[in-house]
Amino acid sequence: MYTLTYESVATDKINSAAMEELLEKARANNQRDAITGCLIYYKGRFVQLLEGNKVRIEELYRKIKMDPRHKNVTLFSDDEISKRTFPNWGMAYYPIDENNTNKYEYEQFKRNLILMADLIEPTNVTSKHFWKKIKSMVVEPPM
Ligand code: FAD
Repeated sequence: MYTLTYESVATDKINSAAMEELLEKARANNQRDAITGCLIYYKGRFVQLLEGNKVRIEELYRKIKMDPRHKNVTLFSDDEISKRTFPNWGMAYYPIDENNTNKYEYEQFKRNLILMADLIEPTNVTSKHFWKKIKSMVVEPPM
């Protein structure tokens, strides 16, 4: 099995309705292709981890790179793996959007994500990089 993680920047072609549509399609495709993973949206940026059969993941990543709904798609880690990090998730999705969430919910969401990043024991280097990236993105630099 194979896993990769990348980051990208959302374009103006994506809003919450378009995101719903994207996720519905992604989850159906991923279930068909036995692909699992996690997608985080935070302040206009995406970070995604994908895992599954290597040929299928490479094929999907080629499509994802060409998708006009985001840009600057940059791979930051990939690995051969024997165990999935998200075995039960066709595509777990965590949107953290301060414009669409009240302040309390937003802060709570951020805290949950940081807690997850701290508690989850990564079983491979790519998943380790994924959580590290999420944490560095969500934790605000000290004033
Ligand atoms: P179709 O859905 O038939 O799409 C054909 C073409 O139209 C593709 O080139 C697609 O990019 C484009 N397209 C479709 N709908 C829109 C739209 N509303 N606006 C602009 N272009 C559109 N796909 C997955 O299968 N699994 C994933 O985990 C996944 N994660 C993604 C994460 C991000 C951040 C983004 C931006 C996209 C993701 N996608 C994912 C979507 C992926 O880029 C392709 O759109 C999708 O895999 C194509 O599915 P399909 O081959 O069934 O083609």
